[in-house]
Amino acid sequence: MANTPSVLIDGAWHETTEQKDVLNPVTGSVVGRIGYGGRAEATAAADAAAAALPAWADTPARQRADLLHKAADLITARAEEIGTLLAAEAGKRKPEAVGEVAFSAEYFRWFAEQARRPSGSVHPHEAADRRHMTLRRPAGVVASLTPWNFPCSIQARKLAPALAAGCTVVARVSDQAPLAATELVRALTDAGLPKGTINLVHGPAAEITDAYLQHPAVRVVSFTGSTGVGQDIMAKASRRITRPLLELGGNAAFIVFDDADIDAAVAGAMIAKFRNTGQSCIGANRFFVHSAVYDEFTSRFAAAVDEMTVGNGLSSPVPDLAACIDQRRVRAVNDLVDRAVDAGAKKITRDFDLPTGAFCAPALLVDVPEHVGLATEEVFGPAAAIFQFEDEDEVLARANATEMGLAGYFYTRDTARVWRVAEHLDVGITGINNALPTAAFAPMGGTKQSGLGREGAEIGLEEFEETRYLAIGL
Ligand code: NAD
Repeated sequence: MANTPSVLIDGAWHETTEQKDVLNPVTGSVVGRIGYGGRAEATAAADAAAAALPAWADTPARQRADLLHKAADLITARAEEIGTLLAAEAGKRKPEAVGEVAFSAEYFRWFAEQARRPSGSVHPHEAADRRHMTLRRPAGVVASLTPWNFPCSIQARKLAPALAAGCTVVARVSDQAPLAATELVRALTDAGLPKGTINLVHGPAAEITDAYLQHPAVRVVSFTGSTGVGQDIMAKASRRITRPLLELGGNAAFIVFDDADIDAAVAGAMIAKFRNTGQSCIGANRFFVHSAVYDEFTSRFAAAVDEMTVGNGLSSPVPDLAACIDQRRVRAVNDLVDRAVDAGAKKITRDFDLPTGAFCAPALLVDVPEHVGLATEEVFGPAAAIFQFEDEDEVLARANATEMGLAGYFYTRDTARVWRVAEHLDVGITGINNALPTAAFAPMGGTKQSGLGREGAEIGLEEFEETRYLAIGL
């Protein structure tokens, strides 16, 4: 499977002359190969998407929905196989990888259903001979650009609503983990999507992106990745007033109040910090713990970390923590930890004997000066700082003192506080006594420099539509 043609243009899976190996981050062995295209292939893909747009936009919603349901069933049937490939190319724990593929199918199901819900509006008229209404129409060709950390579910969160809305798509996926994401696209062609409706070109990021953004039919660019690249894409999108949907970096606070259920908070902290080896945009980045429960929470959290096993995500029994995507990520996380220790922070978790490969030890640190990188930057790995706080206003100010606003978490049993903090934590996604907020029906996205727009939910479909206002004289 890994060597099947991987570039899709106008309904045909191609090989390209240039190929690129995809490596397993643990063993360094070749997991598969992708065809590596460039500007010519990307432009051909956008031409195909433009040609396919009128027919797909006018395909009855019921028919579009049936095809998306069929694709979802194919993804579900292949979840174990595609998930194993995903674990191999991204170094993930296999159950998490299989779960991610199965979850990707949920996006296609949810948006297949949403495609058939009523849309548009009819307004009460103000003159006897006038009527007023709105229609929603597909926005045009969509460029879908996705990262390596959740290459399947993030791609599904873009493709499903775009296709459900009647848009056609040109996609590029990260070449650090492209194989499973390619299989997701294959499920769409296997389901019978018309040729040109979905196109996929692998290749150099900026070159492919530029070709997509310069094409006159591309009306929306949906990107998930770092804030720096998002800024670059937004600037390029401005040249043709292409609509940018941006899901960018995070810096989530995880707040434990003095009335929290500490068992639940520790269990939630383990998930929010270590899921996908900490390489999650909504991962907990900074822990704030009330002084009354600080010692108890911190010692129990550190004890849970000390019990973790670290190893190959494909091995059995499955380790608690798997590899990072590559050595560069490992070095970046270790550097943040080392700099914090140099500035006076104390590591409170044990040293780990790590296997060979792109592994990073889990680490919790206290007494971290709030100006060092571990406190201010997105760690995107299995390390974090724990801070102490005294009151609600203070912790809200500290949690919000960042240019990022993707996700935040807090644990409390006080319902009035639930509302106060939920209203004032300046993020797009809040987990309240809950470390796993993601769902196909949930609007995902951030405030401030964490992005623009929302993915998932009703709004996730509307982002790929244009509202047309009709003023009708009778
Ligand atoms: P990245 O921005 O380096 O890469 C993201 C994608 O963009 C990759 O496919 C990459 O090949 C491509 N890319 C790189 N340079 C490009 C350029 N100049 N022009 C066009 N495309 C380019 O990010 P990453 O390291 O792959 O992922 C980590 C970052 O993504 C983190 O900051 C994380 O928070 C963010 N992220 C956000 C979300 C979200 O939903 N908000 C989800 C996952 C990851």
